Amino acid sequence: MVKDIDETRQVIYIDRHFIHEVTSPQAFSGLRDRNIPIHRTSQTTATADHNVPTLNQHLPIKEPLSRSQVEALTSNCAEFGVELYQLGHELQGIVHVIGPELGITKPGMTIVCGDSHTSTHGAFGNIAFGIGTSQVEQVFATQCLILDKPKTMRINVNGQLQKGVTAKDVILYIIAQLTAAGGTGHFVEYAGSTFEAMSMEERMTVCNMSIEMGARGGMIAPDQTTIDYIKGRKFAPTGAKLKEAIAYWSTLKTDDDAVFDQEYSYDAADISPMLTYGTNPGMGIKIDQSIPLSDSYEDPKQLVKSLDYMGFAQGESLINKRIGHVFIGSCTNARIEDLRQVADFVTGKQKADHVQVWIVPGSKLVSKQAIEEGLDKIFAQAGFQLREPGCSACLGMNEDKVPAGEYCVSTSNRNFEGRQGPGARTILASPLTAAAAAIEGKIVDVRKYLN
Ligand code: SF4
Repeated sequence: MVKDIDETRQVIYIDRHFIHEVTSPQAFSGLRDRNIPIHRTSQTTATADHNVPTLNQHLPIKEPLSRSQVEALTSNCAEFGVELYQLGHELQGIVHVIGPELGITKPGMTIVCGDSHTSTHGAFGNIAFGIGTSQVEQVFATQCLILDKPKTMRINVNGQLQKGVTAKDVILYIIAQLTAAGGTGHFVEYAGSTFEAMSMEERMTVCNMSIEMGARGGMIAPDQTTIDYIKGRKFAPTGAKLKEAIAYWSTLKTDDDAVFDQEYSYDAADISPMLTYGTNPGMGIKIDQSIPLSDSYEDPKQLVKSLDYMGFAQGESLINKRIGHVFIGSCTNARIEDLRQVADFVTGKQKADHVQVWIVPGSKLVSKQAIEEGLDKIFAQAGFQLREPGCSACLGMNEDKVPAGEYCVSTSNRNFEGRQGPGARTILASPLTAAAAAIEGKIVDVRKYLN
């Protein structure tokens, strides 16, 4: 913290500023117009992710808008001296995947990016949140930001998850309980034995979707799992610096007597594989539940509108619903553990003929590792297409779109109208549930394969 402005606002120092091609161009223009440099280029990291194609990345980008966005990022970074992991670079990938995997994201940092899912980095015990374009410019110019103090929320989940229930199901369950606006104005801490038992990649999946319940961000206290994940990564500290860092990271825990503005507790045993049926991530049900009826829904008009868009009916079960597309990717679920889990499940199985399945790694390093481990061969045998890294069909901003009216079971984080392309119908789910849907060509409860 740099200083208190008043009781509700503070100026905070930003330890790491991640940028990409979508929210940075106006901020660079602002600096240029005022003839000011970036204050700390060494604390700024850029990558191209939203607009990149995920096939033939060695060729020029076909879509004119995407091409110009990526080219603008390249020239802006060169002009202002920012390190860029551009298309073709061995470290390129989705901004929230590369930060942690390179060891740039470490506990106790303030991290911002012009992207809502910056909350991902909270998995390391960070204050990490998305900012708007004008704030990107402020951080460029000053490495500081004025921040309204958020309210605090703790979400406790304790116990062991059932077989077939993943971190993605945990966060979809929480959002379904609290609604898409349930965390508004709050910063969330996830606590309890269920999160403690998760790997760092699972914790990132959880924190990633904090924004989907309206929260500013989400965090999990660092522990030995965090330390083990960071050690040995490209930009991680080593030797005496690592020792010193670990001593500091180990202090980053909530006080035993801390009081939160809101606190919720859930039992891991109550969580099932989850699906969304509507057009916001709060519209979620357990896979064996039915879509709610409008007379029991708090906003009946929204329910009717969403179901109309999705082509679903009140009271309907989604089990056996035929789907045409499966997207396994995004900053929520495109890390190596996600790909391994899918490969493990689909080994020896074949996708349904009518389904198009895209596996889009979160980064070049994830892609390389998947190939080194032979996952590419398993995907090929199953009929799944392993593409090149990028945001891809998480959002309809590049060449990867789901056609209008088609259902896509997606491991991404948003199911808004048109998110995966105009008229596309998104059903959010875990990688396991998505893989099972790909095999059967319809929605199935993945637990039937696992018990
Ligand atoms: S994968 Fe999706 S949510 Fe994540 S940064 Fe890219 S567009 Fe945003």
